Amino acid sequence: MSAEFQALLRGPRAYDLARKALEVMEGHHVWPTVRNFELWVCYVSESTSPLALEIDRLLAAGEPITETLGEALAAQFMPDARINGGILEAGDALSKELHTVTRAIESAQKSSETYGQELATASERLSGDDAQLKAVVADLTTATQKVQADNRLLETQLADTRGELGRLRESLDQVRRDAMTDGLTNLTNRKAFDESLAAMCEDAEAAGETVTLAMLDIDHFKGFNDTWGHQIGDQVLRYVASVIGRLGVTPRLAARYGGEEFAVIFPSESGRIALGVLEEIRIEISSRSLKRRSTNEDLGAVTVSAGYAERLSGESASSLVERADAALYASKHAGRNRTTAAQPLAVVAAA
Ligand code: C2E
Repeated sequence: MSAEFQALLRGPRAYDLARKALEVMEGHHVWPTVRNFELWVCYVSESTSPLALEIDRLLAAGEPITETLGEALAAQFMPDARINGGILEAGDALSKELHTVTRAIESAQKSSETYGQELATASERLSGDDAQLKAVVADLTTATQKVQADNRLLETQLADTRGELGRLRESLDQVRRDAMTDGLTNLTNRKAFDESLAAMCEDAEAAGETVTLAMLDIDHFKGFNDTWGHQIGDQVLRYVASVIGRLGVTPRLAARYGGEEFAVIFPSESGRIALGVLEEIRIEISSRSLKRRSTNEDLGAVTVSAGYAERLSGESASSLVERADAALYASKHAGRNRTTAAQPLAVVAAA
């Protein structure tokens, strides 16, 4: 169990949260396994966490919370995904150690080869009278050859281990990528987005550069889900994500912020550039009429509303999110399917 969870269960709200979690689990026919309990205590403890928002979305879509879904949610949202980082660091440290040991053995092998050659030369130079000495040198040569053979064996074993470690590192990289990715849309997930935004704001502050944040939300998504069912809803999410992801490529960062809301970070790019990209995304999304693939039925076009904010000097990541989100909701209130620039901080504060 994670440290946060341990703290939660030893804090003043512990029994309340535990009771509430069990109640909600029973209401949704979820078995009280240890993993489920951890998941649902986190759900009831913070109603606006990415996990809680995703569970709410699934419940609203009438999705049964099955064992498999519970496991997928835990893998995506539970804090012990941080263990991945630890494992990866351990793998890196091990790899460095192995490299050092390999170097040491290679160097020892070279010395023993040189030593062996010197012994052979010395043996040749000894005259016939030095029979006893010659025997000693011969013994030493044999011992050296044995050391060389052992070293060669060790080198082969180390090469195998290095190969294994490389494969292990690839698996760990995959685990890390999975922990940062939203399973449905393949965009960056909320947890990784939060971390990246904080880091990019810090970098922008240090370098005196700008960073722009955009928030996008699918219009009338709930209606889509209600009319066509959540499987089509998921296809819509994937479609919108595919367009956002195509235009939000590195160094930009495109993420699923939660439910039907997406975010794009534009490091070192102004609001003017972000506006151009957002308009491209918005127009491309609305230009296609989607089909229900099983029946070829027309699902109609999907539109998105967007808002963006260019970071102000000294502004925190959360304030930037707040301003971009407010701009997004201004787009919604103005009739949807449009992009709005955020208000400066002073105007937000006065409102
Ligand atoms: P997907 O179904 O996994 O499709 C991945 C990509 O394969 C699509 O990327 C598209 O390039 C191609 N593709 C798949 N099926 C078709 C098809 O029947 N006709 C054409 N012309 N291309 C096809 P794309 O377009 O970016 O879509 C990404 C995801 O968005 C799709 O993943 C799907 O989940 C959803 N989507 C897009 N358009 C539709 C649609 O008209 N109806 C439905 N139900 N889903 C759609």
